[in-house]
Amino acid sequence: MEINQCVIIGSGPAGYTAAIYASRANLKPILIQGMQPGGQLTTTNDVENYPGYPNGITGPEMMQDLQKQAERFGTQVIFGTVTKVDLSKKKGGVHKIIIDNKDQIHTKTVIISTGASAKYLGLDSEKKYMGSGVSACAVCDGFFFKNQDVVVVGGGDSAAEEATYLANLCNKVYLLVRKDEMRASKIMQKRVFDTKNLEVLFNHETLEVMGDKTVKEIRVMDTKNKQEKIINATGFFLAIGHNPNTEIFKDQLTMDKTGYLITQPDRSLTNLPGVFASGDAQDSIYRQAITAAGSGCMAALDAEKYLAELH
Ligand code: NDP
Repeated sequence: MEINQCVIIGSGPAGYTAAIYASRANLKPILIQGMQPGGQLTTTNDVENYPGYPNGITGPEMMQDLQKQAERFGTQVIFGTVTKVDLSKKKGGVHKIIIDNKDQIHTKTVIISTGASAKYLGLDSEKKYMGSGVSACAVCDGFFFKNQDVVVVGGGDSAAEEATYLANLCNKVYLLVRKDEMRASKIMQKRVFDTKNLEVLFNHETLEVMGDKTVKEIRVMDTKNKQEKIINATGFFLAIGHNPNTEIFKDQLTMDKTGYLITQPDRSLTNLPGVFASGDAQDSIYRQAITAAGSGCMAALDAEKYLAELH
C-alpha cells in the first residue's frame, strides 16, 4: 500500500490551514473532511473577527474559500469520516487511518484537527433558530446583539465569561443556571454578580426558544415553584460546555480528563512521533478560528520538520 507523507483529519480552519502549508511544502496532503465538512464555522452566520475580511464573511463561504485555497496547492480532499486509527509508536513508523470503516490510508504523519462540538440542550426549537439568534459562541456572535436583551445558559466558567462579555455589548443579559448555585470559580462569579445589567436566574430551565424568522422570546421554568415565564430576548447563547472530537484517539494519545489532546508546550507534537494536533481538539481555552488556523500552520511546519529529519 502506498505510504503518504501527510494525512490531515478534519476540515475546520485548523485542518485547511495545515493543508495549505503542507501542500505548499510539497507533502501532498490528504485531508479527510469528517462528519461536518467545514467544521463549527458552518453553523455561524457572519464572521467579522477573522483578520483580512474588512466587510466580514459568512462562515460557510470562508470554509469554501479555505478549501479552494488548500486544493489550489494540491491537497486531496476526501469526503468521509475517520472511524479508526492505528498510530505507530515508532519514529518513522507508518500510521494507519481507516475511513468510514472500510478504506485504509497509510501515512508517515498525521495532523489531527477534529475540533470540538459545543453542547446544546437538544430542544427542537433551539435547532430551528441556530444562526438566527441561537449561538454557542458569544465572542463570535455577540456583536450582532448590541444593545439588545439576550439569554445565556450555563453555570460554569464559560457561562460566566460569556455572560459578562455580552453584558458589555448588550442592554440586558439573563443568565439561566439550572441549579441553585454556579459551578464557575468564585472570582468569575463575583464578576457576574458585580455586573449591573446581568441578572442571574437560579433554578431556571429553558423550555422553548420562540420567535418568527429570528428569536424573540424564551420560555423558561423556575424549577423550584414550577412557574413558567417568558423572557423577551433576541439572542440565546449556550455555554454548557464543549466536547473535543477525540474519541477515536483514546488509548493511543495523551489527553486531559475532558478529552482535549495534550501537546508539548507551544508545539503541536503529541506523545506519538509523527502525530500532531491543532485547533480546538487541543485547545479548551481560546477556541477561535484564527487561533485554530495558527495552530494548523504550526502542525504542518512540525510535520514537515519531522519528515525532513527522517531522511
Ligand atoms: P463546565 O462543564 O465547567 O460547565 C458547564 C455548565 O453548564 C455547568 O454549570 C452545568 O450545570 C451547565 N449545564 C450542563 N448541561 C446543562 C443543561 N442541559 N442545561 C443547563 N445547564 C447545563 O463547562 P465550561 O465550558 O464552563 O468550562 C469547561 C472548562 O474550561 C472548565 O474547566 C472551566 O473552568 C474552563 N474554563 C475556564 C475559563 C477561565 O478560566 N477563564 C473560561 C472558560 C472555561 P451544572 O453545574 O448544574 O452541572
